[in-house]
Amino acid sequence: MKVVIIGGVAGGASTAARLRRLDESAEIVVIERDHYVSYANCGLPYHLGGVIADRNKLLVQTPEQLRQSLNLDVRVGHQVIALARLAKQVQVEDLDRGTTYGETYDKLVLALGASPIRPNLPGIDHPNLYVLRNIPDMDGIMARLSDHPCQAAIVIGGGYIGLEVAENLIHRGLQVDLVERLDQVMAGLDPEMARDLQYHLADHGVALHLGVAAQSFTDQDGRISAHLSDGKTLTADLLIMAVGVRPNIELAQQAGLRIGLRGGLVVDAHMRTDDDDIYGVGDMVETPHLITGAPQLAALAGPANRQGRIAADHICGRSACYQSTQGTAIVKVFDMVGGSTGASERQLQQANYPYRKVCLRPAGHASYYPGTAAMHLKLLFHPDHGQVLGAQVVGFDGVDKRIDVLATALRAKLTVFDLEHLELAYAPPFGAAKDPVNMAGFVAANLLRGDYQPWYPEDYPGRTQQGILVDVRTPQEYQQWHIPGAINQPLNSLRSDYAELDRSRPLFVYCRVGFRGYLASRILMQQGYREVFNLSGGALTFSSVYPTVYSTGQADYPFVAHAEDQMAEQMLRS
Ligand code: FAD
Repeated sequence: MKVVIIGGVAGGASTAARLRRLDESAEIVVIERDHYVSYANCGLPYHLGGVIADRNKLLVQTPEQLRQSLNLDVRVGHQVIALARLAKQVQVEDLDRGTTYGETYDKLVLALGASPIRPNLPGIDHPNLYVLRNIPDMDGIMARLSDHPCQAAIVIGGGYIGLEVAENLIHRGLQVDLVERLDQVMAGLDPEMARDLQYHLADHGVALHLGVAAQSFTDQDGRISAHLSDGKTLTADLLIMAVGVRPNIELAQQAGLRIGLRGGLVVDAHMRTDDDDIYGVGDMVETPHLITGAPQLAALAGPANRQGRIAADHICGRSACYQSTQGTAIVKVFDMVGGSTGASERQLQQANYPYRKVCLRPAGHASYYPGTAAMHLKLLFHPDHGQVLGAQVVGFDGVDKRIDVLATALRAKLTVFDLEHLELAYAPPFGAAKDPVNMAGFVAANLLRGDYQPWYPEDYPGRTQQGILVDVRTPQEYQQWHIPGAINQPLNSLRSDYAELDRSRPLFVYCRVGFRGYLASRILMQQGYREVFNLSGGALTFSSVYPTVYSTGQADYPFVAHAEDQMAEQMLRS
């Protein structure tokens, strides 16, 4: 059997390696138009900042190593320019020699990836405008940084590549302006979750221009100017365009293979196209979303690698199936981390999918052990059976493991009731006896069991005007700032010294993070108040949704653990 694989990085290389492990006799040809295969494209931004100082560390495998270890026929600098399905042959151009030749196949795997979008804007061909997809792109940026005295950079696009590039250019000592068309960074996160990252970027000197689009680029004495939709002009030594990628489907399209609504190659569960002898993997294919089932493009390394294994298995006669993509992603932004898995609230709303949500602010590990901070955790789940539909976590320590546990829960179709029972590793430096994932389960399961009812920032001021807003924090906290219109009824006085409230009106209770509000709700409900609602995620989540309403003009950094919350936590644990 002869298998030709086009594209030799994440999806292509993993298909080739798995094929060889399953079939020692197969002839495996890998055709790659660049001069590098199987390199670490996810590491490219970190070389720009010197975090990965040695460029060679990014070159995970050379063509020669693949030849020796896996007996692969790897042809770099060769580009497939046409596909003749009837003849089962691809037309290949040897880019160094300028010659072409035909290569036949029994099975063909398309792993062509995606290309960075270069919007058709005036000045897009300015020599100081770069994209970052591969080693030559990175080398070009590095050459600009080292050959010219660079002081300032513009990054267009606030997705994970844009953020990683911005951080690394700051590490190099550049001034960085980041321009994003949406009014938030990291579109995979819901806006209130992204806001924490935005504060952190700004704290580290990244000048954010949100809700603003770049409209054209001009030359300014050898520097580049970006003209923005808000009328501003930014000028810098280089500009990185990171506004997303588009699947490389031209070859497949010309060969008449089916392209989906999202613009990716359509494949079945075996990663097979509508031609039985042609497979597709990685950034160029559409796969179903784990929760909504809708076809999606997910430019992520994990799915590309797993799909490569599935395609190889099926080519070798195994009935392997790719299940779906849940879009688990994580980004480091200086000291902060943001991650998500499954559906976001926005996706669920767009899909008209029923859901409920909770927000909480547990510490990354036991708050008495040094080096932790509260994280912002948002859990989305089904309103009836409680199946976990999505999760987002933004914080400092321990974000990655919570996202991974929740990603596993999603894949296993666990419910919020299952999360209550997870037994997770605990010692003070690592977690809490009630892990944040357990806590998310408790808070969500309590909601579904009717132990309390939540209210959300978006209920303010409309719904809350029909009731009484009750701030259960201390008088000091209340005086410093409170939601406009709230009265103060501190938690500690609720059992003894408190003024009777109007029982005919609903009570909208809140505290700083939602925990004291929950305790207060339980007390008030047991005192006979029938309609008591607790603000999910407390005033901190409220502040993420309405930063201007929250603003006190004083530093009240959301992630500094608060003594009152710690006391309430102690009460619960004791
Ligand atoms: P690629 O890895 O891009 O490989 C496709 C290859 O096909 C390319 O090398 C291309 O040259 C070749 N090719 C295309 N057309 C032809 C042709 N006609 N003939 C021959 N060869 C051709 N994902 C994560 O999950 N986490 C991360 O942290 C992360 N960070 C990233 C950072 C950066 C800077 C970038 C660029 C990507 C990052 N990704 C990350 C995304 C991840 O790298 C991709 O999802 C993954 O590489 C996709 O694999 P692929 O095989 O589909 O495409």
